[in-house]
Amino acid sequence: MALSGREQEVVGAVPTGLVVGGAQREGAGGGRIDVEDPATGEVFASVADATADDGRAALDAAVAAQAGWAATAPRERGEILRRAFELITERADNLALLMTLEMGKPVAESKGEIAYAAEFFRWFSEESVRISGRWSVAPNGASRLLTMKQPVGPCLFITPWNFPMAMGTRKIGPAVAAGCTMVVKPASSTPLSMLALAQIMSEAGLPDGVLNVVTTSTTGEVMEPLIRDPRLRKLSFTGSTEVGRRLVEQSAEQLLRVSMELGGNAPFLVFPDADLDKAVEGAMQAKMRNGGEACTAANRFLVHREVAEAFSARLAQRMGAMKVGRGTEDGVQVGPLVDAATRDKVADLVGDAVGRGATVRVGGEQVGERGYFYAPTVLSDVPDDARLLAEEVFGPVAPVVTFDDDDQAVAMANDTEFGLVAYVFTQRLDRALSVVERLETGMVGLNAGIVSNPAAPFGGVKHSGFGREGGAEGIEEYLETKYVGLST
Ligand code: NAP
Repeated sequence: MALSGREQEVVGAVPTGLVVGGAQREGAGGGRIDVEDPATGEVFASVADATADDGRAALDAAVAAQAGWAATAPRERGEILRRAFELITERADNLALLMTLEMGKPVAESKGEIAYAAEFFRWFSEESVRISGRWSVAPNGASRLLTMKQPVGPCLFITPWNFPMAMGTRKIGPAVAAGCTMVVKPASSTPLSMLALAQIMSEAGLPDGVLNVVTTSTTGEVMEPLIRDPRLRKLSFTGSTEVGRRLVEQSAEQLLRVSMELGGNAPFLVFPDADLDKAVEGAMQAKMRNGGEACTAANRFLVHREVAEAFSARLAQRMGAMKVGRGTEDGVQVGPLVDAATRDKVADLVGDAVGRGATVRVGGEQVGERGYFYAPTVLSDVPDDARLLAEEVFGPVAPVVTFDDDDQAVAMANDTEFGLVAYVFTQRLDRALSVVERLETGMVGLNAGIVSNPAAPFGGVKHSGFGREGGAEGIEEYLETKYVGLST
C-alpha cells in the first residue's frame, strides 16, 4: 500500500541525515537504514546509518559546544525550550502522523504523545531559571559553606521505539535547561520522530552542537566507544533491562553518571471494595495505552476472588469491542505491534498461558494477514507458572489472577524482579495507604490508570532501573553539586 499524498509530504519534510554539529551528513559508510510501516510491513523511508567514526564525530561536536552552552544564560536556555514547545504544539498534526507511520499507534494516541513530549519542554523551560545552590554558616561559625549547581557535561541518550518523541524530550528538556550538550540515539525502527524534533530544536534557536543525533544499525559498535570515552559525563538510557544492564557495565569504566529507565511488570490490584466502573476504566488505560507497548502497562491483573468474575467479564467486553487497524484510519483504537518479533512474542506468551490451563475470554489471536496486528486479549484462570506473569508482555494482553486477602495481594504484586509502577483500586483509605507503602515500585497509580506526568518524578526501583525523569527531580540528573568552603 503506497503512502497517501499527505503522508508522503509529511515524511518527505524530515531531514534523514545524521545531525552533527548542526549539519546534516550521511554516515561515513554510506549506508541507509530502512524504516517500515508496521501496519503493512512496507518500507516507506530510510535514514543515514552511522559508523563508529560518525558517533565519535557527534561526541566531538557535543564536547566542543559544552563550555559555551554551559555559559549561556538560564533564561535563554529556557526560552529555546519554550519556543520548541510552541513549534511542536503548532505542528502536532504532522508530527503525530509521522509517528503513527513509523510506530503504528493510532493517530489520536500519537497526538497524545506529542502533547506529553512537548510538556517536558514547557516544564523544563520553567525549571532552567530555578537552578540554585545554598549558602550556610558552618556549625562552629568559623567558615561559610557555598553549594553551587553546575551542568554535568556532555551526555549520551539512548531511547526506545515505543514513545519515539517523549522518551527523548524528557531527557533533552532537562539537559538543555541545565546547560548540558548531548548525543541522542533513537531506536532504529522509529528514527524519524527524533530527526523531526532535532530540526525543530534548531529552528527554536538551539546552538549547533548542543543536540547531535546519530541513527545506526550497528548500535552496540557505535555506542560502546562513546560510553567508554572519558569526555562523556552522563548516560541516560530508556529501554530493556537486558540492554540497560550491559550499558551499566560499560559505563563503570569511566564511572559515568547513569540514569536507567528499564522494563516493568506492573501489577494492577483490584480490591473487593473498589469502584468497579473506575477499576475497569483504569484497566483500559493502564493496559491499552500505546496498545500495551508501554513500560507502565499493567502486566498482571490481581483481582480479589469476590469481584474477579465481574471484573474479567467487563474488561473482556470492553477489550473485545476495540477497533483494530492501521493507526491512520478513522476510529481505530488499536494499531499494529511494532514488528513481527514483538507480535510473535505476544502470541508465544499467550500460547504458553493457554497451554498451562488459562481461559481465553476474548481475543487470543493475530488479526489479518498483513502487518503485525494482535487482538486485544483477556485471559482468566492464569496459573502462577505462566510466563506472561513474569515477563513483560508488551502487547494488548490482560491476564487475570485472583487473590484472597491484602497480604497475599501485596506478596503477589512484589513477586517480580521489576519495580516500575503498580496500580491500586480501593475506596478504603486505610487499605490504600497500607498497600501503597508496602509496594516495591517507584510509582503507584491510586485509583488511576495513568501516572505519567511531566511534573512528576518518573522512574523505577529493582530491575526497572534508577534515576528519575520529570518533576523537580528531573533536572538534578543533569547537575553536579560543587561545594566551596570559605574561611572567614
Ligand atoms: P531495547 O531493545 O533495549 O532498545 C532500546 C534502545 O537501546 C534502542 O535505541 C536500541 O537501539 C538501543 N540498544 C540496543 N542494543 C544496544 C546496545 N548493545 N548498546 C547500546 N544501545 C543499544 O528496548 P526496546 O525494545 O526498544 O524498548 C522496549 C523496552 O523499553 C521495554 O523493556 C520497556 O519496558 C522499556 N521502556 C522503559 C521505559 C521507562 O521509562 N522505564 C519507557 C519506555 C520503554 P536499536 O533500536 O538500534 O536496537
